[in-house]
Amino acid sequence: MSAEKGRNGTREPAAARLAGLGTSVFTEMTELARSTGAVNLGQGVPELGSPRALLEDVAAAVLAGANQYPPAHGTPALREAVAAHQRRRYGLEYDPGDEVLVTTGATEALAGALLGLCDPGDEVLAFDPCYDAYAAVARFAGAKLVPVPLVTEGDAFVLDAEALWAAVTPRTRVLVLNTPHNPTGKVFTAAELAAVAEVVREYGLTVVTDEVYEHLVFGEGDGGPVHRPIAALPGMRERTLTVSSAGKTFGVTGWKVGWVCGPAPLVAAVAGVKQFLTYTSGAPFQDALARALGGVEEWAAELRRTLGRNRDLLSEGLMRAGLRPYRADAGYFVQADIRAWGHEDGVRFCRELPLRAGVVAIPTSAFFVRPGAPSHLVRFSFCKREEAVLDAVRRLEEAAAGPR
Ligand SMILES: *Cc1c(COP(=O)(O)O)cnc(C)c1O
Repeated sequence: MSAEKGRNGTREPAAARLAGLGTSVFTEMTELARSTGAVNLGQGVPELGSPRALLEDVAAAVLAGANQYPPAHGTPALREAVAAHQRRRYGLEYDPGDEVLVTTGATEALAGALLGLCDPGDEVLAFDPCYDAYAAVARFAGAKLVPVPLVTEGDAFVLDAEALWAAVTPRTRVLVLNTPHNPTGKVFTAAELAAVAEVVREYGLTVVTDEVYEHLVFGEGDGGPVHRPIAALPGMRERTLTVSSAGKTFGVTGWKVGWVCGPAPLVAAVAGVKQFLTYTSGAPFQDALARALGGVEEWAAELRRTLGRNRDLLSEGLMRAGLRPYRADAGYFVQADIRAWGHEDGVRFCRELPLRAGVVAIPTSAFFVRPGAPSHLVRFSFCKREEAVLDAVRRLEEAAAGPR
């Protein structure tokens, strides 16, 4: 055998597709919170509890022996509960047989969708800033994520429809939508969704919509903003994969049980990937979640009240501390402008904040894809106990009053 053959010693051990992904700023900030004892409003790990009956059901399922591979597409009970949920809430009909797939969190559904739908060289549109997994999994598929800016208007983030039309090329295959949106807390309006759908239909794109915060829109039912699935718009069901998850709705992010609904050929593409990524997901959780999903409205109403109160406490506190907050209509997070504290760079600000104020936040630059995006935004999470939010607010106000 020649010396060259089979010798790999000079190559990087990791594949090129991982280049630049690095350790995320979430890891760094979580570690900073731990080492400094700061109040952690960084990563969106919910601390607001879960339905007691759900926890007991899962514990009972483990003890009763639901510990082996469940059916590859998910248990019939959970697939039926997901289909019933989509019908009851949104009037969307899915066949639990081949139009619903249970996944290992929304993360696997999103990865499976992009790996299952994109060929190398394809382009994937996403509104910028966006959840950090989208660009990474697009890259794993050999595709490229093309960021479409969400622009600020007053205290809101809004769609720039012209920028969306302009971003489409002959290589565009998929549009990733996320509503309610992380990291901004934006809920896409009916008019914005109609504008997105128009582009999608015009160019024959496929939509992958991430709706993990679907139950967490504040003031829904009281004339406030409303979550609308884009799949419910005319001509959109047949070209949309809708992704959701138990993690955010029930405060069980460690369980990693999600699901995706869509027309059978699109769901089959995700299932084709899933069968060799994880094959199946979380046996003891599935039937318990099916029962919880059946009564989700009651649980979610209470959770929305708690989260909405936290959102108000945090936003008002940020305002008093001079960190101007943007409007967050849903989810776990609020955006703040750091410039009044003499900062332009959110990464530096977030590295200093634990020492200066005893609070941890996440620089929004971690969510921006496009070069030249704003660097003066940071994300605070309010999915924490009220005392933690109040403590953080007090610390920020004290730091704002002290020396800069
Ligand atoms: C948390 C989150 C996810 C991940 O959901 P899992 O079910 O934990 O995989 C996906 N998308 C968004 C926007 C999120 O905030």
